[in-house]
Amino acid sequence: MPRYCYKCPSCGEQATEFRPVARRNRRRPVCLKCPTTGRDGAPVMDRDIKTELSSLGPDFSMKYAKECVDDTMGVHPDQVPEHRRRHPNIRLNNEGSILIGDHAERLSTIKELQKAFTEE
Ligand SMILES: [Zn+2]
Repeated sequence: MPRYCYKCPSCGEQATEFRPVARRNRRRPVCLKCPTTGRDGAPVMDRDIKTELSSLGPDFSMKYAKECVDDTMGVHPDQVPEHRRRHPNIRLNNEGSILIGDHAERLSTIKELQKAFTEE
């Protein structure tokens, strides 16, 4: 069972639970540090995805251990100058392959190319 992290929206207290994937967001833990207030009880904790990702190691949430060369989204070498002009935020090597250094860059690259394809 995967490990899930939760955080109290009120005091920041954290909790960790092992659950089946299907139950990751169901009946989230209640904060044990916050005082119970009236019939609403203590605050229900939110999923803390940032902590879950960082517990997998720095390479997962930040930089990839090794820069990724993605040929599936690349272009023909003759098209490299035009691609660089149209998409200055996407890094290409001289062979036309897309270079991706971390998870955020992968997402922004996919987003920009999807937008370009649907507009053309
Ligand atoms: Zn709390």
